[in-house]
Amino acid sequence: MSQFNNAETIPFVSLSPMHDEMRDEIDEAIKDVIDAEYYIGGKWNKTFCKAFADYLGTDYAIGVGNGLDALLLSLKAAGIGQGDEVILPANTFIATALAVSYAGATPVLVDPILDTYNIDPDQIEDKITDKTKAIMPVHLYGQPAQMDQIMDIASRHNLVVIEDTAQAHGAEYKGKKAGTFGDFGGFSFYPGKNLGALGDGGAVVTRDPEAAKKVAALGNYGSLQKYHHIYLGNNSRLDEMQAAVLTKKLAHLDQWNEDRKRIASRYLNEIKNPAIILPRVIEDADPVWHVFAIRTEHRDQLKAYLEEKGIMTNEHYPVPVHLQECYKDLGYKEGDFPNAEEISRTQLSLPMYYGMTDDQISRVIEALNEFENEA
Ligand SMILES: *Cc1c(COP(=O)(O)O)cnc(C)c1O
Repeated sequence: MSQFNNAETIPFVSLSPMHDEMRDEIDEAIKDVIDAEYYIGGKWNKTFCKAFADYLGTDYAIGVGNGLDALLLSLKAAGIGQGDEVILPANTFIATALAVSYAGATPVLVDPILDTYNIDPDQIEDKITDKTKAIMPVHLYGQPAQMDQIMDIASRHNLVVIEDTAQAHGAEYKGKKAGTFGDFGGFSFYPGKNLGALGDGGAVVTRDPEAAKKVAALGNYGSLQKYHHIYLGNNSRLDEMQAAVLTKKLAHLDQWNEDRKRIASRYLNEIKNPAIILPRVIEDADPVWHVFAIRTEHRDQLKAYLEEKGIMTNEHYPVPVHLQECYKDLGYKEGDFPNAEEISRTQLSLPMYYGMTDDQISRVIEALNEFENEA
């Protein structure tokens, strides 16, 4: 253990400020589920899915087991599989690419923009072939990708758009919620996401009633009617306990996101150190700051320095998709995606969670402003 200079540690993330404030609501919801004796596919699932679709301003939300399955079931519902190619950014959590692989299709990677961290729309068209069936933009770290440009490319090439919205619950682009631009939006309710369950959970959102039915069937043994199986489906459902907790939490999401924006705006305005590059927010975007990502040539040194001061950080992500061992068969090599590689080498995520105190934020900012690299 390093010395914390007598100061209290600032964790990278803490869920207790939000849970403490709504503990009674959560306890009550869980008690209701236990008493109802309905643990899969009951009233809470319906209530949550309706509330989530309404919140996003879309027509259908289908609860699924996790975020990876939300993407996989969207791909399958779109009929994407063997022999097809799907375009996605080279710097994302591995799930985006794995969903494509599990569907039987091939991930085709595109370099991100350095300072927004999102897929570079200008590089998408070069990667489109006659096998391309879909684009999967990721709203990374909570900032929407450039959806008007992406939707325009997709419509010109007749491609399906599946938005990986696992990090961007409530984020907006041009006043419209992330996840509702494309044919499908895939959400994760992993506990640490902006809207998180007390375990695994996910949802697919869509405006297409047929697609909604197909996703629901695919995640329920391929069946819409009990014991009648129209697809080779799997088992991926949002359970009642999580749906009940998520229903209660959804009512607080905007308040929690506003708090993240308060923290991000202090970071953006007050971190002033030439060795540190702050993220850029694109025009017309209202990010929800799942992660506040900076870049520095002295990442490892800065990480250790902050830890000395009791400030915990994280790397998202230390290895880009094209250099992951599981994807060596795709044939990519170092140098193929320079921006993704630079991000993996220089990116550092600062503490960011609902309920960070002004003092804690100030301590992070002060530490960053006092950082001097000797390298
Ligand atoms: C968390 C995450 C996922 C996967 O969600 P799980 O619920 O963990 O399966 C997918 N994509 C991105 C970008 C994520 O951050």
